[in-house]
Amino acid sequence: MRIPLIAGNWKMNTTVSEAVTLVNELRPGLDTIQNVDKVICPPFVSLAKVKELLQKSTTRLGAQNLYFEEKGAYTGEVSSLMLAELCEFVIIGHSERRQYFNETDPIINKKVKAALKAGLKPILCVGEKLTENEAGRTESIVTGQLELALAGVDNIDGLTAAYEPIWAIGTGKAASGKQANDVIALIRWVIGRLYGEKTAQATRILYGGSVTATNTAEFLNQPEIDGALVGGASLKADQFLSIVRQTAEIRDLFTR
Ligand code: PEP
Repeated sequence: MRIPLIAGNWKMNTTVSEAVTLVNELRPGLDTIQNVDKVICPPFVSLAKVKELLQKSTTRLGAQNLYFEEKGAYTGEVSSLMLAELCEFVIIGHSERRQYFNETDPIINKKVKAALKAGLKPILCVGEKLTENEAGRTESIVTGQLELALAGVDNIDGLTAAYEPIWAIGTGKAASGKQANDVIALIRWVIGRLYGEKTAQATRILYGGSVTATNTAEFLNQPEIDGALVGGASLKADQFLSIVRQTAEIRDLFTR
C-alpha cells in the first residue's frame, strides 16, 4: 500500500517572515494527521528557517528546483548538495520551469540524476499543454517526457512522479478524476516497462492542477492517484489542512 503524499508548492510566494507565519499556522494541524506524507516546498530563501520550525514535526520539507552541477561558477544557482543539508524533497521539471526558464527534457534528466545522487527525493512533473491535449497527444507527450527525464537513471527509489496537465495549473480548471487517473495509470505502466512491476507499484504518482479542498475527494478516490501537488491552495492554511485531512480520511476508508 502506497502512503499518500500531499505536497504544497508555494512557488515564488512568501517572504521569509510570511513563510514563518504560514508554517506556524499549518504545523499544529498537519502534525495531528497521520498516514499521509505532508511536504511543503517554500522558496529557497526560507528553507533554512522553515527547517528549524519543522524540527520534531512530521511535516517534511522540499525545494522547488535545483541546478544539476554540484558546485562552481553558476551564479545564482542552487545545487543538490546545498539542498541535501536543508530538505528531503525537490520538485523537478515543473511546467513553469519548462515554460519560463527553458528547461528541456535533457536538463530535467540531469536534474533528476543530481537529486538522486545527493539523496534527495525528486517530485518529477510531467504534463501536456492544452493544444496537445486537444490534439489527442497527452499519452505520447507524457510518455516521452517521462522516458527522457529518466534516461540513464538505473534506480528510482525515492522518486515521486506528478501528472500536471499544464492547462489545469493555476487556471481553476482541474482535470476530472477519471482523466487524471487514466494518465496516471499510463505513467505507472511506463514506469513498469522501464523498471519492473514492483517498482511501478511502489512509486507514488500525484495529480496536480487546481486541486482545492473542494475537489480533493474526486482525485483521492481514484485508485491510481497517490496524492496531490498543490499550488495556490497550499498558500492558504485552512485549504491545505483540509486537503491533507480529507486525504487521510479517504485512504483510511480504502484500507479498511
Ligand atoms: C503547481 O504549482 O504544481 C500547481 C498544480 O498549481 P495549482 O494548484 O495552483 O494549479
